[in-house]
Amino acid sequence: MSRAWVAEAVRRVEADANRSADTHLHVFPLPPSWGIDLYLKDESVHPTGSLKHRLARSLFLYGLCNGWISSGTTVVDASSGSTAVSEAYFARLLGLPFIAVMPAATSVEKISLIAFYGGEVHLVDDPASVYEEARALAESVGGHYLDQFTYAERATDWRGNNNIAESILSQMSREPHPVPAWVVVGAGTGGTSATIGRYLRYQQLPTQLCVVDPEGSAFYESWVSGSSAVTACGSRIEGIGRPRVEPSFVPGVVDRMLQVPDAASIAAMRWCSSVTGRLVGASTGTSLWGALQLVAAMRAAGEQGSVVTLICDGGERYAHTYYSDAWLEAQGIDPAPYVADLEALLSS
Ligand SMILES: *Cc1c(COP(=O)(O)O)cnc(C)c1O
Repeated sequence: MSRAWVAEAVRRVEADANRSADTHLHVFPLPPSWGIDLYLKDESVHPTGSLKHRLARSLFLYGLCNGWISSGTTVVDASSGSTAVSEAYFARLLGLPFIAVMPAATSVEKISLIAFYGGEVHLVDDPASVYEEARALAESVGGHYLDQFTYAERATDWRGNNNIAESILSQMSREPHPVPAWVVVGAGTGGTSATIGRYLRYQQLPTQLCVVDPEGSAFYESWVSGSSAVTACGSRIEGIGRPRVEPSFVPGVVDRMLQVPDAASIAAMRWCSSVTGRLVGASTGTSLWGALQLVAAMRAAGEQGSVVTLICDGGERYAHTYYSDAWLEAQGIDPAPYVADLEALLSS
């Protein structure tokens, strides 16, 4: 294997990061009299539009530095969409063929983004079979299976190196409450929550980590029951909630979990867009809904402080789904009661 090729590949991945700015931490407006500040870390502004840009960078570096990826290696992964978009971008940066194995229900916007970056898409009917299909496909072509659901938690340097947790805490340093009471995230691979939870402990901070989980996902039930054997039907909120407990989900660093109805996620997503003027994805709605429940609980307890959550991706990818009233109706999702809850929460 050519060390010179690997060295050049690592340089290209690092140079991509070096050309990029850090992502913004926006203030989400709440009544000042509450003494509680809410922040949104905007991961939609990465070059490939989601927090999966960080994950794809880490998985490629991990593969390169482990000697798993070299010149001409076909790279394969199982994905519900956003990870494959970012991985296709990095594969093209390195001149490597990339194949994404995805459920047939993946949005057409995402499939065309993968094709835009030169990736190939392999659709399967049964979402539960993506892992084995991807592994077998990689083996049959002598390629490398990135396996995001196994390696997300370990490919990222949780002690620092400007990971998402270190970035958030340094951006918080001049705020009225620089050490958050809560950080709220969803789990897809579980990698983001693992990185944040570990970093909070490593930095000896009292900040608590809340993971929000959509209807139909296995994470919530397994966290409550302490069993990883749980399987469920999956999730309608793209990017988060899984039909099985993924190996990258690290339950021991999660202080609390909240299960969020899909209609509440959609209500919060649309409300976020109207308040901030930014189109956000549905998993951002799930996170915002959870964050507001914690804000309400802090108010009820007479506490002040800060809460941080994420804009995981933008809303442009979901024009035909979460932003379409016809789609919501066909899915039997009615956000109206939850919109009323949000209005009541903010006017109280
Ligand atoms: C992947 C993803 C998440 C969750 O991140 P993980 O680190 O994989 O748990 C949240 N929202 C969106 C849109 C995602 O694509």
